[in-house]
Amino acid sequence: IIEVLRIGQRLVRDDRVTTHVALVSRAFGAERIFMNEVNPEIKDTVEKINKTWGGKFEVEFIDKWKNVVKKKKEENFKIIHLSMYGQNINNVQEELQKEKNLLIVVGAEKVPREIYELADYNVGIGSQPHSEISALAILLDRIQKGGQFEKYFANAKRKIIPTKNGKNVQVEETRD
Ligand code: SAM
Repeated sequence: IIEVLRIGQRLVRDDRVTTHVALVSRAFGAERIFMNEVNPEIKDTVEKINKTWGGKFEVEFIDKWKNVVKKKKEENFKIIHLSMYGQNINNVQEELQKEKNLLIVVGAEKVPREIYELADYNVGIGSQPHSEISALAILLDRIQKGGQFEKYFANAKRKIIPTKNGKNVQVEETRD
């Protein structure tokens, strides 16, 4: 199981980025994202995507990020904090691939100091500043070695048949 925790989202300014963090989490095989309820619309957006494109990805609103980290530690999840200051992904990916249950923590602007100590792994997708969206995508890809793109999303209304030219979309009959 892979889950994602978004911390430090700023009002309005981070809405689009947080939505993309959620969409990448879903499309790259995570099962759930935890975030503060800064903008409740993000949950509706993701639920609409689930309805159309399938799967059961969940957005769970939280109060305190630290409680999520503590609970997940009790459930034997390993905590990976994405940070440009962390160990280079190239040197830890093999170790991470062996882990069963992971909680991946991504920041927004400022990250509380404590997360560095609470994390089992602080991982850098290189040591240059870039984006939580790209960092998350690359981490999920390195951990699952591309397997996430074979994942089946159940009960989809639309399913894409990958094609060389143009668009091929299968539309399912729906009962609702
Ligand atoms: N300046 C902030 C700090 O140092 O805490 C980070 C801002 S960055 C736009 C937001 C988030 O993107 C970070 O909290 C981290 O999760 C992620 N991120 C950015 N660059 C990264 C990198 N090279 N490796 C891993 N994560 C990165």
